[in-house]
Amino acid sequence: MDQVKIGKFIAECRKKVNLTQMQLAEKLSITDRAVSKWETGRAMPDSSVMLKLCEILKITVNDLLSGEVVTMDNYNKESEKNLIEMVKQKEESDKRLLTMEIVIGVLISIVFFALIFIASLIEMEEWLRITLIITGFIPFAIMVPFAIRIEQTAGYYECQKCGHRYVPKYSSVLWAMHINRTRYMRCPKCHKKSWQKKVISKD
Ligand SMILES: [Zn+2]
Repeated sequence: MDQVKIGKFIAECRKKVNLTQMQLAEKLSITDRAVSKWETGRAMPDSSVMLKLCEILKITVNDLLSGEVVTMDNYNKESEKNLIEMVKQKEESDKRLLTMEIVIGVLISIVFFALIFIASLIEMEEWLRITLIITGFIPFAIMVPFAIRIEQTAGYYECQKCGHRYVPKYSSVLWAMHINRTRYMRCPKCHKKSWQKKVISKD
């Protein structure tokens, strides 16, 4: 998808319906900065506002994703191309998220072990030692829910019994036993428990 082209198209359609960036933003309950980002090709409207945006601009989602009004002849072809492109983009962003999760994990572990190391090896007052150890746990407390959210929403889990791929509930991921990213969970389709692997694509 050509983000710059899409941006120009959004700006063009917005002017056609006589709206300023601010007015469009207000209709969508978002900031005008967000609209400006789309129009300069720095960001894409996310799925939550896409339909409403198209409705306001009097275009189809297919037009929006193509960055131009798609003629009836090309409609199916363009629509398939856009769908495939969106799946591809989701897969790439999921991969980035999962990599980020590893980076976060490594960083907080380094901080943790460094603080524990200092606290146990260096001569210091007891209260300072305890403060250091507690400080080491804080990044975990903050980042673990965030990392679990990434694991829940990026990509899919695959049931080992029936092969079903799905996005589990946050609570299922949170409480499941796990070895790295492989989690022991109940499949919503066949209802059997198995060690489910993280996969990037839906099929
Ligand atoms: Zn299953």
